[in-house]
Amino acid sequence: MSFLADDELHGRGSATRDEHIAALFAASQFQALGLEPGGDNGTFLQKVTLPNPLPEDAKQHLSKLEDTPRKETWNAIAILRGSSAPKETVLLTAHLDHLGIGPSVNGDNIYNGADDDASGTTAVLALAHILATGRRPRRTIVFALFGSEEIGGFGNRAFLAHPPVPLASIVANLEFEMIGRPDPAVPAGALWLTGFNRTNLGPELVKHGAHLVNDPHMGQHFFRRSDNYALALQGIIAQTVSSFGLHKDYHQPSDDLRSIDFTHMNDAISSMVAPINWLVNTTWKPQWNFGRKPWHQAIPN
Ligand SMILES: [Zn+2]
Repeated sequence: MSFLADDELHGRGSATRDEHIAALFAASQFQALGLEPGGDNGTFLQKVTLPNPLPEDAKQHLSKLEDTPRKETWNAIAILRGSSAPKETVLLTAHLDHLGIGPSVNGDNIYNGADDDASGTTAVLALAHILATGRRPRRTIVFALFGSEEIGGFGNRAFLAHPPVPLASIVANLEFEMIGRPDPAVPAGALWLTGFNRTNLGPELVKHGAHLVNDPHMGQHFFRRSDNYALALQGIIAQTVSSFGLHKDYHQPSDDLRSIDFTHMNDAISSMVAPINWLVNTTWKPQWNFGRKPWHQAIPN
């Protein structure tokens, strides 16, 4: 996390050289763990060419940020092949990129994105380490770190178009977003799960030790605001784990390592180990609750 959120990575701007370096770093971690490559041509990287010209909403996101060519973005993907149920997949994800260099605030123009989302990336890398060094799970686990989430989810969409395993094999996706600080709106030590009431995944993970609660910020529509949503729109059970407490450092240069609560973050990741270990070894499959699929738009979250 110190590497990802260091000033030297210039805030990992979407589709920049810095995002590519972050992806290479993650890939080298996956490789060191002896995981199977899930990217292009036997590598851990998936290269994604961005549309040219970029769509208007992406241009809008970039309008105040460093003016640099944004031609390609990178996903880092690794696979831990399951033992007895290799055709069932649990997908663990986060996003590599952040805003990069932008307008100066109090003399700082590097948007480090320590919480958003170096914290989630670190969680996925830590879980990869734990799961790869333990007993081989029943189910296959895919670890995917997406590029260009901040400008419209280009990495994630390319992953869906060219998945390393069939999308139909994905039993569940957990995205990790902003777990670097506790959320005062939920009990101490708790994380929230977007779309908690949409599926039976959250309650079942809770039964297996997860400190997951319902997302307390329903008006923010967080279920629809991260990479999980594009997967959910395909019918995949895909939800985001977070403890974002709407802090003032969101999308500011002050979202750096100094504002991270490492005790909280360590507890947060640790608390998910047993429930995920259960999920990758069970035969149980989560389901959407009746009338709660993402295209049932009447539901706020
Ligand atoms: Zn994010």
